[in-house]
Amino acid sequence: MSEKKLKFNSKTIHGGQEPDKAYGAVMPPIYQTSTYAQTTPGGHQGYEYSRSANPTRTALEKSLASIENGNYGLAFASGLAAIDAVIKLLNPGDEVISTNDLYGGSYRLFRQVFEKFGIGFHFIGMQDAAKIEDYINEKTKLIWVETPTNPMMNVIDIKSVSALAKKHDLLLAVDNTFATPYLQTPLDLGADIVMHSATKYLGGHSDVVVGALVVKDKGLADKLYFIQNASGAVCGPMDSFLTLRGIKTLHVRMQRHSENGKAIAEYLANNPKIEKVYWPGFEDHPNHEIAKSQMTNFGGMISFVPKGSSYEEAIKIVENLQLFTLAESLGGVESLAGHPASMTHASIPKEEREKSGVVDSLIRLSVGIEDADDLIADLEQAIG
Ligand SMILES: *Cc1c(COP(=O)(O)O)cnc(C)c1O
Repeated sequence: MSEKKLKFNSKTIHGGQEPDKAYGAVMPPIYQTSTYAQTTPGGHQGYEYSRSANPTRTALEKSLASIENGNYGLAFASGLAAIDAVIKLLNPGDEVISTNDLYGGSYRLFRQVFEKFGIGFHFIGMQDAAKIEDYINEKTKLIWVETPTNPMMNVIDIKSVSALAKKHDLLLAVDNTFATPYLQTPLDLGADIVMHSATKYLGGHSDVVVGALVVKDKGLADKLYFIQNASGAVCGPMDSFLTLRGIKTLHVRMQRHSENGKAIAEYLANNPKIEKVYWPGFEDHPNHEIAKSQMTNFGGMISFVPKGSSYEEAIKIVENLQLFTLAESLGGVESLAGHPASMTHASIPKEEREKSGVVDSLIRLSVGIEDADDLIADLEQAIG
């Protein structure tokens, strides 16, 4: 059966996978090796040095390409290493237009590493895709989209941004970490590059730090592969194995993340002690219609602001939580809570942060796949 015809719930398990050639192992062995014997100089079986390629990583890269409906996957040492490779496609003087409400580490990489090499960045609200055009000039080369955004859960219309990118001959990259290909496949909506922090939902068990890129175009894949091999931030064989194992249950986990996310978002919205809940599944979410059209469900990422709450009170709530672990990161089977202003978004100046809604009392939840009743009971006791 042609693998491209498989449905998503089969692709997570079988996409790009075949039994290992040596002994028929159903899961790819962890090829923990740096180098490969050659019979004569250049006489090898497709692998010569593990920065360039490693069979366990290849298995992961094929899986990534399959689940994102792309043709080429690249696995990196972290999500930021994957982003780093994309920006290295550019030259000094080039400009990037990026989502303003963005993962803090991406913002830091753009502003504090790449600006010094002469690459310019504009951080703008993209819920109205037409606004992007105001920032396009002859130097613009790339549009960087994150949707849903972190932590405000704004949803950006990938199709409209893609039309704009094509009109001006720009690359469009989408950070698909929050949604995962279970909820949305940006390449199908016209994006050129999909990026993941596979550390989050793809790995799904909070046990690896891994990044990924997926593209359709061979020329673009070759350029990114050149950068990956030249810069060297590759995903190791053990982490490749663990991420691949995680992907095999992605669809089952995402279904439960979405169910639990809905239950908890509704609980918070009906709680008189809560001022505001940010979750794209609500009909009154400003981008609900776009979310409904480009996503298959709404996931388990939720942010909320307790009524009349301060920085200190928000910290007290996250400290009071028992089943939710107070921690950076997201997307694992266990529920996590975070305080963006002091944690993930601390590297963004307060003024910038508050412009996009990341106030001092905002709390972000990564709802896991535990029993929803237990999670709600925990929130109830912590909010008090
Ligand atoms: C975590 C994260 C990243 C960075 O990935 P790492 O694996 O931590 O390097 C990028 N984008 C988003 C949306 C993230 O959540």
